[in-house]
Amino acid sequence: SKIIEVENLQLTYAPKTAMQRQALQNINLTVERGEFRAIIGPQGSGKSTLLQVLAGLEEGVGRVVVDGLDLSLKKNRNLLWQRVGIIFQQPERQLFEDNLYNDVAFGPKNMGLPAEEIERRVKKALQKVNLGEEYHHLSPFKLSGGQQRRAAIAGILAMEPKILLLDEPTAGLDPRGRQEIMDLFSHLCSNQGLTIILVTHDMEEVAQRADKVTVLNKGKVFMEGKPKEIFARG
Ligand code: ADP
Ligand code: ADP
Repeated sequence: SKIIEVENLQLTYAPKTAMQRQALQNINLTVERGEFRAIIGPQGSGKSTLLQVLAGLEEGVGRVVVDGLDLSLKKNRNLLWQRVGIIFQQPERQLFEDNLYNDVAFGPKNMGLPAEEIERRVKKALQKVNLGEEYHHLSPFKLSGGQQRRAAIAGILAMEPKILLLDEPTAGLDPRGRQEIMDLFSHLCSNQGLTIILVTHDMEEVAQRADKVTVLNKGKVFMEGKPKEIFARG
């Protein structure tokens, strides 16, 4: 079944000003539940903007339905944060609590979950990103770059989203760090049914991980297909 449906989406930044920028034009996109979708395209082609719309952080014109929620309604956009996790470039900037445990607990606490459930989720999420108990009391700022990145990802996983929107989540990491994080995302997708939308410039990641690829160019869908089909047409 479809978890994301986008019809005729347009988004213009700073409309009716000298700074006007049409970031998205006539975007049509459907994503199946449990799919691993990659979005590629040159700088400025609208990839980040599309993720922001799917996360309810930007609003365009057109039909956007995410997990059954029609995002033209404000009340639906406000429900989205519990179901859709967005991981920005350099997500470690999203870290801000005094220790790792509290940082990861921040989202579940905001969801108003009972204390035992918060604890269960925090421990599980930190275990998934391979940061064991010995890290829980450390300041997130004492961790290495790769560990900070994984800590930020744990904070999103602890919310148990159905959809993960990833904007170049491995940028700046070494090959081993990249591999670890991409393995985690692949696992969440194939074993736990999460739907993943990955924006990346790494064509190896796309070839290895994605079920399907959408290529954006100048705010439009330029091509769409399986990685093999896309790369064959190059
Ligand atoms: P990509 O992620 O593919 O690099 P973006 O979605 O960031 O593309 O940008 C698409 C277009 O929208 C670009 O022309 C960019 O300059 C413009 N843009 C992005 N964000 C903003 C913004 N906040 N205000 C004005 N223009 C923006
Ligand atoms: P695995 O053995 O595949 O690592 P587990 O058996 O530990 O997975 O956990 C599976 C459970 O994880 C599912 O029943 C589901 O409730 C829960 N889950 C679902 N989505 C997430 C998520 N985003 N982060 C953490 N746990 C999740």
